[in-house]
Amino acid sequence: MKEAAILPMLLKQLRLPTMSRLWKELNKEAVQQGWPPIRYLTALCEHELSHRDSRRLARHMADARLPRGKSLETFDFSVVPSLNKSQVSALASGDVWIASGRNLLIFGPSGVGKTHLAAAIGEKLVESGYRVLFTRTTDLVQKLQVAKRELNLPFALEKLDKYDCIILDDFGYVRRDQLETSVLFELISERYEHKSLLITCNQVFAEWDKIFMDKAMAVAAVDRLIHHATIFELNVESYRKRTVLGRTKKAK
Ligand code: ADP
Ligand code: MG
Repeated sequence: MKEAAILPMLLKQLRLPTMSRLWKELNKEAVQQGWPPIRYLTALCEHELSHRDSRRLARHMADARLPRGKSLETFDFSVVPSLNKSQVSALASGDVWIASGRNLLIFGPSGVGKTHLAAAIGEKLVESGYRVLFTRTTDLVQKLQVAKRELNLPFALEKLDKYDCIILDDFGYVRRDQLETSVLFELISERYEHKSLLITCNQVFAEWDKIFMDKAMAVAAVDRLIHHATIFELNVESYRKRTVLGRTKKAK
């Protein structure tokens, strides 16, 4: 049958790799079971689509650069009584806050699980089909600074627009330097009421003029960030310290 020779080429040209891989096997089944042609074609298309979805998800997951092994399933809510598990789960599914470009701010001292929680929410958002980027704030600021020096900042910011949510980890570690903080401010302004930011920070707002050199800029940044924001304060004992202490207690 000459179709058997032509079909693989057609599927390749049409960029349908899953149909290319499965047509023969499904064709055999269709003949054996006496499927009508429409059922065979539908089954092939369904396979193609479902593989396309899982490839897209894998690509988006890799592109999000989330730290490994930090999921909601491994986050122990019992040690953070201030956190409402169902509220966190609702946020992790995205919906309203991501669609309307609202923000999520996670505050607390070192070791309390800010990064873990942010990454876990990020992972769920990707699974729900959103585009996410996880980055240390200082890394992104450095990239934006380079772009600014090369007069490319608008383009760099526009490229970040594809992300529904950018997770800025350790916001408080940005150096107090006018150029650095001004690109950060431009990022915040660009995304305001448009695309979400998820920020983890170990400094309370009152100390943000240490991040932004200019007090007016600090106030303007805080204003934009909190205007439409959910704020979590994880004021518990360091999880790291707690697990180390727990281990030594058990060892005694
Ligand atoms: P932070 O970003 O607040 O400094 P991390 O998120 O890095 O803290 O947490 C420190 C370590 O403790 C990480 O390995 C993290 O996975 C773990 N951890 C913190 N809080 C929890 C928690 N509630 N449940 C499970 N693991 C946690
Ligand atoms: Mg952290």
